[in-house]
Amino acid sequence: MIAISKTRIKDFAGRVFGTTCPGCRRVSSSVCKNCVEQISQIKSSESSPRFHETASDKTFKNVIVAFGYSKVVRQMILSMKYRNMRSSVAVLGAALAERINQETAISHQKVDVIAWAPTTTRRKLERGHDHAEILARYVAKELQVPCQGILRRLTDQPQTGRTRQQRLIGPRFVSRPINNQCVVVIDDVVTTGTTLRRASQALYEGGAELVICAAVASTVLWQSSIESCELATARRSKH
Ligand SMILES: [Zn+2]
Repeated sequence: MIAISKTRIKDFAGRVFGTTCPGCRRVSSSVCKNCVEQISQIKSSESSPRFHETASDKTFKNVIVAFGYSKVVRQMILSMKYRNMRSSVAVLGAALAERINQETAISHQKVDVIAWAPTTTRRKLERGHDHAEILARYVAKELQVPCQGILRRLTDQPQTGRTRQQRLIGPRFVSRPINNQCVVVIDDVVTTGTTLRRASQALYEGGAELVICAAVASTVLWQSSIESCELATARRSKH
């Protein structure tokens, strides 16, 4: 008996017709209903780290995050990264734009420009695109804010595949001069936070008034590290 699973047939059909859901690879012209439902549940049930930063406090503190790093979200990020799938960009970008909107509305913060943390030149050439740029452009369009390539990456070492120690040192960026603007800098996934922290530093050096960091998803590591850090601070202030 030859048993071919339903998923395999669907996967095959998807490859033939070129129409699979980036979240689950089933036949669908875009992100399927099931996956959209799944990620909206993640959105409401997982509280992402909150964004608290004031203009006077020019240190990197927090990241606006749309999702936890679930299987579906991970698949969608990968499809955006390696295959430049528009339906993934649309779903993830819209969710991130919504989160940025929520958080900046709370603090009545007007966003002047959207930027991104550029990937390495090598990766960009290999893939034919910079997924962070595509994401940033989508978010900017949603928020009706200009998107500009403000940052340049000085190091060509990709973060993926590096040890935690190497990751903590992170890439180096340089910003073109910007005068007293509120910049939202975007990346796909936050792991240690180093890339966004470095990008943020460069933007402040370039003259930004406020830098807000935003990412589609954060790994558990990052979320728990923020929580434990906040708990530790709270405990210390009690004594
Ligand atoms: Zn799906």
